[in-house]
Amino acid sequence: MIQAPRGTFDILPESAARSPVESAARRKVVEEQAEKILGAAGYGRIETPTFEATEVFARGVGEATDIVQKEMYTFDDGGGRSLTLRPEGTAPVCRAYLEHGMRKLAQPVKLWYLGPFYRAEAPQRGRYREFWQVGAEAIGSEAPETDAELIVLLGELLEALGVKDTRLRLSSLGTPATRAAYREELAAYLRAHEGELSQDVRERIDLNPMRAFDSGDRGTQAVMRDAPILLDRLHPDDAEHFEAVRALLDDAGLRYELDPTLVRGLDYYARTVFEFTSDALGAQSGVGGGGRYDGLIELLDGPPTPASGWAAGVERMLLAARDIEAPTELVDLFVALAKREGSRTAFELALEARRAGLQAQLELAGRSLKGQLRHADRIGARYVAIIGDNGTATLKNMESGDERDTEINNVIPEILRAGRLM
Ligand code: AMP
Repeated sequence: MIQAPRGTFDILPESAARSPVESAARRKVVEEQAEKILGAAGYGRIETPTFEATEVFARGVGEATDIVQKEMYTFDDGGGRSLTLRPEGTAPVCRAYLEHGMRKLAQPVKLWYLGPFYRAEAPQRGRYREFWQVGAEAIGSEAPETDAELIVLLGELLEALGVKDTRLRLSSLGTPATRAAYREELAAYLRAHEGELSQDVRERIDLNPMRAFDSGDRGTQAVMRDAPILLDRLHPDDAEHFEAVRALLDDAGLRYELDPTLVRGLDYYARTVFEFTSDALGAQSGVGGGGRYDGLIELLDGPPTPASGWAAGVERMLLAARDIEAPTELVDLFVALAKREGSRTAFELALEARRAGLQAQLELAGRSLKGQLRHADRIGARYVAIIGDNGTATLKNMESGDERDTEINNVIPEILRAGRLM
């Protein structure tokens, strides 16, 4: 038996206990809810390619991030170009925004996406090398309402999917200038306590000092308790922006915890930053998050353009959700054969039934008539039409067990009539 290769991607990994078919049906529920909730707020769906020029992520995600340093599937396309399987969606959406002249549209341009993403991480529950994300971006507005709207929309999506025990953490990162000054201050503080820090944190003091707040090391944690906090260093404009976002979330009745140590893995964030976690998940508790990334479009050679957005992990939402039952498909009609000769008539009847809006299937496995009826029962068919001789059929109501002979031409109208009575 050929199996999916181990050690490459974990295809449709949400749960080993589920078949890929069930898994796809559950993903569809996520898609439908996202479409409904984001569509109602004016977000249009965008699709970008699975791979991009490596440069898009190297610049757009940030060279210093784990994603770019360690987690990208990068390859030469055979023509000397370096390509990368997309590890995230924001940089590609911004690339598309610039490339397709969306700057000329009314701003902000509000977009959402859903699809597979790839990161070379050590797999564990809730962390896969191929995973799906749903994301939303609003490009071209710096209004605090944009940030608040995006956060509320993600909250509504999580609620609609029944994601359990969610918590929202919120903070502000200020502008890049404030952040740069703060990073210097924090790095100096860390250097002054170098002896008490874990090796990992020590090595990253210059590259990414904010990561020290995430450390599991006890010595580092003790040092971080007295570390300077970015929220205390915000420029008045940024503090005011953050106050406005908070007031809007308060008005919306969305509960959040202020977390001044909230760090996003990506370097281009400014001002608002947030993350939803679920206590129903294990170590990988982040369900979705995002924030404002006013600097990104410029990094991709565009004009200064404020923007805000989020991404949420589809597998994690499904793992943390109350049972999402994908709706079972109805089968109105199963077309069975008493004799082989009726096969062309059966084929045609099934086609016509579908054209008339019915869900219809026909016998495809050469079963005996008894076997066909058993199969029809198993797939939950409401009616079975057994093709007879000379344009006749036996129409059997599978719920009541009633059956009677009729003209083939009457089969579809009879089912439609019965359907209307129900
Ligand atoms: P990020 O782009 O890192 O902010 O991730 C956004 C969301 O995507 C996270 O909150 C997770 O729900 C999900 N996610 C990120 N990486 C993975 C992964 N390797 N496997 C599964 N889900 C992931």
